[in-house]
Amino acid sequence: MKTKAIIFLADGMADEALPELNGKTPLEAANTPAMDAIARQGKNGTFLTLPAGLPTSSDVANMSVLGFYPEKNYPGRGPIEAVSQGVPLKSDDVAWRCNLVYVSDDDVLRDYSAGHIDNETSTALMNALEEEFGNEDVTFYPGVSYRNLLVLHGKKFSKNIDYFKPDSSQDEPIAQLQPSPLDNSPEAKFTVEFLQDLDRRTAEFLKKHPLNQGKAAPGNRIWPWSPGYAPALTPFEQAYGGKGAVISAVDVIKGIGKASGMTVYEVPGATGFLDTNYQGKVDAALEAIKTHDLVYVHVEAIDECSHLGDLKLKLQAIEDFDAKIVAPIRKALEGQNVNFAVLPDHPVPIKLRKHTTTPVPLAVCGPEITADAVDTFSENKAPTGELGFLKGNELVRYLLGL
Ligand SMILES: [Zn+2]
Repeated sequence: MKTKAIIFLADGMADEALPELNGKTPLEAANTPAMDAIARQGKNGTFLTLPAGLPTSSDVANMSVLGFYPEKNYPGRGPIEAVSQGVPLKSDDVAWRCNLVYVSDDDVLRDYSAGHIDNETSTALMNALEEEFGNEDVTFYPGVSYRNLLVLHGKKFSKNIDYFKPDSSQDEPIAQLQPSPLDNSPEAKFTVEFLQDLDRRTAEFLKKHPLNQGKAAPGNRIWPWSPGYAPALTPFEQAYGGKGAVISAVDVIKGIGKASGMTVYEVPGATGFLDTNYQGKVDAALEAIKTHDLVYVHVEAIDECSHLGDLKLKLQAIEDFDAKIVAPIRKALEGQNVNFAVLPDHPVPIKLRKHTTTPVPLAVCGPEITADAVDTFSENKAPTGELGFLKGNELVRYLLGL
């Protein structure tokens, strides 16, 4: 292990040129001196985070950045978050990510997050679901906000189910968003029927629940997706010969960390949104780098603002990431033998409000990394840098000097 490294991961930051920004992308338009400094002092390139044939989701993308090869090892979002929450999975348990969503009276999926439902309400609703519907076949687990879990128990269930990702399916009729079997097995057929029945019964219950009355976007429906069995990732230490740490608000990223034996720092007040505890994340990163070789600092807020389609909030979230995460960590570690990388996990073009698979811009700097000609961090300039196109474990190996 030659060098320590910090990866700044800005979830969903990459975007496209927008007429209202005079042809600039949000990253180009936002004031981002700290990220620009990494680009100017070091090298730039692009990274492939979403390989073909996999869901275009953050768990796949972040596994790619860390070099865990989702092409071979992707267990599904449900299992990753189950590991993060310490939910025990038996060998034939199928874990599903289970959003609380808002479906309007005309049966259209209106909000994948039930209005970014608060933790207290979502936990109460999930606990009420468990009390009413939990049995030897199914268990409901509360998570963070709309991001909850459902586990189906036993060999009669299959994980080979096709599903619609709720944040990519907003404003579509739910009749067109039903799960379907991916194979001809009786288990897959049974699982679909079981879920549809569970959906009908829980919808009745949630609609009448007192906590869902008088709300603009109540959590009145469950949305199970990305099922799978307990994950089996190569431990970080075995893959890279050093210790890794993860700092994130969201279970999906913490789950990748836990499933690969990285240290997962719990930051009080980390919300996954603009009101997150930025200083807490900075403090955790500076603590972690003392005893770990690679520290992964993930911020979710930019992705959420992109899915909301709110350009003003996205610009704010990008500037907050730059000023409240990248800048103070870089300043605190000035002169030390630490490499830095900054990149998004995938684009969320604000016009589309969905993830796209375009390779993301990447900038790296460090004591022994010489500068290329790129002077700012952007989607358009990064591909012209000397780093070229990276994939797999190339970024982590490069940063650690392997
Ligand atoms: Zn993401």
